[in-house]
Amino acid sequence: MNTIQHYLNGALTEGQSGRFATVYNPATGEQSAQVALASADETRQAIGIADEAFKRWSRVTPLRRARILFRFKALVEEHADELARLISSEHGKVFSDAKGELTRGLEVVEFACGIPHLQKGEHSMNVGTGVDSYSLMQPVGVCAGISPFNFPAMVPMWMFPIALACGNTFIMKPSEKDPSTPMRLAELLTEAGLPEGVFNVVNGDKESVDVLLTDERVQAVSFVGSTPIAEYIYATASQHGKRVQALGGAKNHMVIMPDADLDQAVDALMGAAYGSAGERCMAISVAVPVGEETANRLREKLVEKLGTLRVGPGLVDGPDNDMGPLITADHLDKVRDYIGVGVEEGAELVVDGREAQLEGTGQGYFIGGTLFDHVKPGMRIHSEEIFGPVLAISRAESFDDAVAMINDHEFGNGTAIFTRDGDAARQYCEQIQVGMVGVNVPIPVPMAFHSFGGWKRSLFGPLHMHGSDGVRFYTRMKTITQRWPSGIREETNSFTMPTH
Ligand code: NAD
Repeated sequence: MNTIQHYLNGALTEGQSGRFATVYNPATGEQSAQVALASADETRQAIGIADEAFKRWSRVTPLRRARILFRFKALVEEHADELARLISSEHGKVFSDAKGELTRGLEVVEFACGIPHLQKGEHSMNVGTGVDSYSLMQPVGVCAGISPFNFPAMVPMWMFPIALACGNTFIMKPSEKDPSTPMRLAELLTEAGLPEGVFNVVNGDKESVDVLLTDERVQAVSFVGSTPIAEYIYATASQHGKRVQALGGAKNHMVIMPDADLDQAVDALMGAAYGSAGERCMAISVAVPVGEETANRLREKLVEKLGTLRVGPGLVDGPDNDMGPLITADHLDKVRDYIGVGVEEGAELVVDGREAQLEGTGQGYFIGGTLFDHVKPGMRIHSEEIFGPVLAISRAESFDDAVAMINDHEFGNGTAIFTRDGDAARQYCEQIQVGMVGVNVPIPVPMAFHSFGGWKRSLFGPLHMHGSDGVRFYTRMKTITQRWPSGIREETNSFTMPTH
């Protein structure tokens, strides 16, 4: 039995707690490994290591830190196929999609390589006569990252490249469902020349997370996962004086206007709803056609396309499947149950993925693409995140109805509008209460040099991930006001408010 351990002080470190979680290959349903779950004491030890390493790493010049990240980028590229296979074997997503997530993660590394420029701070000469003011963007200390199962490479890479580039040390707590990729990334960081103890991986569950949220040596916590846990992380870590960015769940709507290029919209919807088996926080799970005619035509085309959706293992000889299995047997049951709930609530089940004839899928956690029509706000399949290949059509009478439906929703992660009308698109961007908006772009994930984050209950905390928000999150600003008088030539005592 392969046991996935921890990565501390630049080396694999055996877990001591005696507690383990099972890691499965979702394409076969077989156990592929067990992962050690750190005890509170082991987690405290890891924090101690990162705290000690901070004293040295924070004094390494930004240029040298960047050079290590350049080498890391080259190593990840060199090992891209191996990493993508690792992702697919534990997560289930198809190989090309796994490569895609790696590329999106690497873009953050590329951004972080610019840290000498990004961490420059500001300078003003002569804020008063003979007085200069400048700001330092200093690292905060030990940072922790807690990541979800659905992007085992990309989400950790949203966090640690910028944190490390800014001079912080890091403890990664990956999802216990697919922990191997962050472990491999840790090895590559060491190979790239990152000093011992600067990046550590602690595998674990609530026991280790709770230590990361409360130990006073941890200064900042980045979290990505489901909303209830995001809220818990935000509340607990904030209460313990840490800065927190906690990204939660989503229910993303795509509006299809009557003037949209419907073929384009349908192609976009297929990838956005069913890619990665719907297990993306930016997946489109609700299509909102405006007008009955748009809705009828859209539905017809979606049904046709669903007939050609190729579902199967993520790693195959020959061309990739369109979508792989779900992450666990429990999650498969949950998604199947949601389909039942939708039927009970009175939505029309147009294509039932539970009934799909899937070849070569054995005991894996597969389900076919599912389509509902006439899904209304208030139904659970509209309000709750299913996180599976289930697309709902929620018909809107007008643009304003569509906007109101989305703005009333609990989540506000991503959304898109498909239209040929610039005015409608512009109005949409202005009015919609969602953090990331696509115009004829179904999954508007911002590039690494912009920031990623939702609104409402999709994100807790003021700062988004990566881009300039990332640099701000992982640095503390210090502002120096300095005066170098040429000498004491006159009486300088002053008892009034300084105004320079
Ligand atoms: P999850 O919330 O179950 O787990 C996320 C992390 O939290 C894991 O590392 C897990 O070990 C830890 N965790 C779980 N329960 C905990 C507890 N009680 N106390 C402390 N830590 C705990 O999420 P998941 O199922 O791994 O991932 C799917 C979710 O992540 C979806 O809701 C999805 O929308 C969301 N997600 C959001 C974004 C985003 O950018 N907003 C991105 C990716 C995923």
